[in-house]
Amino acid sequence: MAFGTFRIPTPVNEPVLSYAPGSDERGAIVAELDRQAREVVEIPCLINGEQVFTGKVVEVTAPCEHRHVLARLHLAGPKEVQRAIEAAEAARPAWSSLDLAARSAVFLKAATLLSGPWRARVNAATMLGQSKTVHQAEIDAAAELCDFWRFNSHFAEQIYAEQPPVSPAGVWNRLEHRPLDGFVFAVSPFNFTSIALNLCTAPALMGNTTVWKPATTSALSCWVLAQLLQDAGLPPGVLNMVNGHGADVGEPVLAHPALAGLHFTGSTGTFQALWRTIGENLKHYRTYPRIVGETGGKDFILAHPTADPEALAVAILRGGYEFQGQKCSAASRIYLPQSLWPEVRDRVVAGIAAFKQGDVRDLSNFVGAVIDERAFNKHSAYLELARSSAEVLAGGEADGSVGWFVEPTFARVDDPKHRLMEEEIFGPIVTAWVYPDASWDQVLSTVDSTSPYALTGALWARDRAVIEHAAARLRYAAGNFYINDKPTGAVVGQQPFGGSRASGTNDKAGSAQNLLRWVSARTLKETFDPPKDWRYPFLG
Ligand code: NAD
Repeated sequence: MAFGTFRIPTPVNEPVLSYAPGSDERGAIVAELDRQAREVVEIPCLINGEQVFTGKVVEVTAPCEHRHVLARLHLAGPKEVQRAIEAAEAARPAWSSLDLAARSAVFLKAATLLSGPWRARVNAATMLGQSKTVHQAEIDAAAELCDFWRFNSHFAEQIYAEQPPVSPAGVWNRLEHRPLDGFVFAVSPFNFTSIALNLCTAPALMGNTTVWKPATTSALSCWVLAQLLQDAGLPPGVLNMVNGHGADVGEPVLAHPALAGLHFTGSTGTFQALWRTIGENLKHYRTYPRIVGETGGKDFILAHPTADPEALAVAILRGGYEFQGQKCSAASRIYLPQSLWPEVRDRVVAGIAAFKQGDVRDLSNFVGAVIDERAFNKHSAYLELARSSAEVLAGGEADGSVGWFVEPTFARVDDPKHRLMEEEIFGPIVTAWVYPDASWDQVLSTVDSTSPYALTGALWARDRAVIEHAAARLRYAAGNFYINDKPTGAVVGQQPFGGSRASGTNDKAGSAQNLLRWVSARTLKETFDPPKDWRYPFLG
């Protein structure tokens, strides 16, 4: 109970550090990478604040050097999953009865710890475990996660302030933004440390307790951050981390009557399977579970003949290949007019030739390895497809002998409905289709109808009328639509993120729209002088 209306500090975006040679942060990350590379971490499940070592272990290896074991991950069995749910349920009354200010304070403190003393540790774990360059780790694990925690607290305050506009004389109307009537299941993907933590902490900020299943391949950074949250004072049982392969954890959790929400990011196939299971279990639940999922993408860059070819090529290089194309927002299908093609092609090919690829511990590398052998094999099959049915202009090979290295590849196809233009590859493979300048109008329809996804897309043009017309025609082709920019790099508080169609429920991570899914409002009407006579005046 707070005796005051406290204000959440106004959030600002966490500065992104440069890691330029000679900088303090560069010295710190190099030392921390060296330290972490020399240890093998035992990663437990975290249940009710206790570390649980089950002894059923899988190894977590470095994508850049797959014989290098970073951690031994203790997997949950049915008993641990059950205990995690019970812990979440038991922690709910105390956590949900804290004021927003008290809950926010935990996450604001977490952001301060991450911004300062924990930064290098979290970034190094993300670099080693997920093969991110220092810049990619910094914008994800450090900057974006600080932003999620600070901005979400600010958005939660706005939601609480949302009250019925009218209370007539003698009546007081109020809205109470209750947490959900059960626990939330958070399921996270390998590719963003910040997303993984936002999936479990956004519902927690709104007063919910969670069972969280990180991807086994990002277990190292997730475990470091689970410890940071303990250090920040998150009470036991609010966040229960259960490690495991998908269905081993998913099935028992989704079968539990107290499931009140699913907060998911990952592939479309997995999300649809989870949704189906929830549908089948519907009659067993105490309440209709909230289902929020951000899923796959086949993100486009569409250039009009009036586009600036030099900047466009940079957008393809950064938007397509940073983090090996393993961003849900990564540019993957490119539509270019014949008149711009020669210049853009040459610039992209020259850029790829200048990329350095290798172990992310060498800070001069721009491209690392893909996440694991499964991804490597999938990408290798797409390279085979490209070599056999497209013109490969750069890259085209893969080498898994030391790490899971897939060359940044740029291909051109003759058919805009080629599989390389339609399917989510989730790797460093970008495909272009070149259209006759005069067929701009048909190209808009092609872009809109080629893939089932609608996550991100970028339009490149200088002509204002073209921009307005294309933005309207492509209204449903992308949840995040960029004009003369790359389709990656959304920033919390600036570009709320999410897509529709097969790309998700579009509940915009890092915004009030997402947080609203984790509350179930109760309306209160209080009448100070209730009527004493049941007869209305019209009765005479
Ligand atoms: P994935 O679907 O393979 O796995 C995501 C998570 O789901 C993992 O933790 C996995 O273990 C878990 N899972 C799988 N089956 C399960 C089950 N039956 N029950 C419970 N959990 C289960 O995805 P991934 O390879 O980790 O991530 C890549 C995908 O994520 C891509 O499709 C990408 O587009 C998408 N993604 C989307 C966004 C977005 O905002 N739209 C952001 C990041 C990633």
